[in-house]
This record gives sequence, structure tokens and C-alpha cells, in this order.
Amino acid sequence: MLYHDADDDNDLAGQDRAGQGKIPVPDHVQQAIITLLKWTGDDPEREGLRDTPLRVARAWKEYCSGYEDDPSLHLSRTFEEVGGYDELVLLKGIPFQSHCEHHMAPIIGKASIAYMPRDRVVGISKLARVLHGYSRRLQVQERLTAEVAACIWEHLHPHGVAVVIEASHSCMTARGVRTPGVSMITSRLLGCFLDDHRSREEVMSLMGY
Ligand SMILES: [Zn+2]
Repeated sequence: MLYHDADDDNDLAGQDRAGQGKIPVPDHVQQAIITLLKWTGDDPEREGLRDTPLRVARAWKEYCSGYEDDPSLHLSRTFEEVGGYDELVLLKGIPFQSHCEHHMAPIIGKASIAYMPRDRVVGISKLARVLHGYSRRLQVQERLTAEVAACIWEHLHPHGVAVVIEASHSCMTARGVRTPGVSMITSRLLGCFLDDHRSREEVMSLMGY
């Protein structure tokens, strides 16, 4: 049962506009990036770097656009007419990007989000929007997983919620111990997925774990 919302395309257009860099960037923000460029050993005056402070500042506003999002609002519109459907709903393998709060380095991965509806469901795209609302911030993967699960638990009041996130952390693959190909898996199970082992086995096997 897929509910597509007419406003989704408009939302994407809004994100693209921000990405094209229309927002003003204060001088002190650009200066901070110039300082960082110097610190790396490069010359911020050279031609290739001249607009970099502006681009970096706008890129970071976009990476962190989740701070301006209240993810719970995406769950405010629900559908109670579900044709007697009371089995689990799973959105599997949603790609996302976040940044670790320790190094501001990319976290790139996929999330699977499931819930067992009690009396209402949400539009299918809304689970991804909740994920993106929290992932577009500085994060640690454990908190991201817990926040997505708690948001669905508190606002949809389902019988259960299961969130599994698998991601690779650039701060580990590109620096530090430099181990590419390693991914980290975190999970948060609430309600029936925590208490009932058959529900848990079903959701984990549907997710592919
Ligand atoms: Zn890190």
C-alpha cells in the first residue's frame, strides 16, 4: 500500500535551489574556511580555490539541513483506512548520507525501517524523510538509529519499530586506521520486535539480516 504525496516533488525542488547556492554566506564563515585551507598547506588565493569557501559553506548548510527539519512533522499525516492490514511495513535499503560529529567526515550507508501498525500508517516516503531529517546533521550512527526509531515510536504509536543501519565511516576508511570496505551495523528494536522473537526474526530476515 503506497501513499504518494503530491508535495514531494515540490520539496525536492526546494532542496535543489538551496544546493545551487543562492543563500548568502557571511564573511566570518568564509574566513573560517580560508583558515582551514591555509592549515592544510594550500594557498586560498590560487584560482581553483577562490570560490571554494563559498561552495564549502553552502555545501555544509545542505549536509546539515536536518537542523531546520522537525522529523516528527513528516509523521503528522496518517491514514487510518488500511483495509484491515495489520502486518509489518518495511522500507528496505534507504540510501542516506550523514557526517560524523567527531571528524565531520561522511557517513554513507543504507537504512531499513519497519513498523508494525496499530491503527494507522504513513505515506511510504515519510519514513525516508524521518531518516533524512536526522541524518542531515552531525551524528554518530548509534544515535541516528535510536532517534529514527524513537520518532516513529512516539508519533505513530505502533506495536513495534525496527531500525537497522549499515554504514561506512570515512573517518575510518579514509583516515585513521584506513580500512576501506568495512561497514558498521546498528539496530534499534522497540515493542513487539524487541519482546517477541518471532516478530524479530521475521523483520530481520525481511531486512536481509
Ligand atoms: Zn568520525
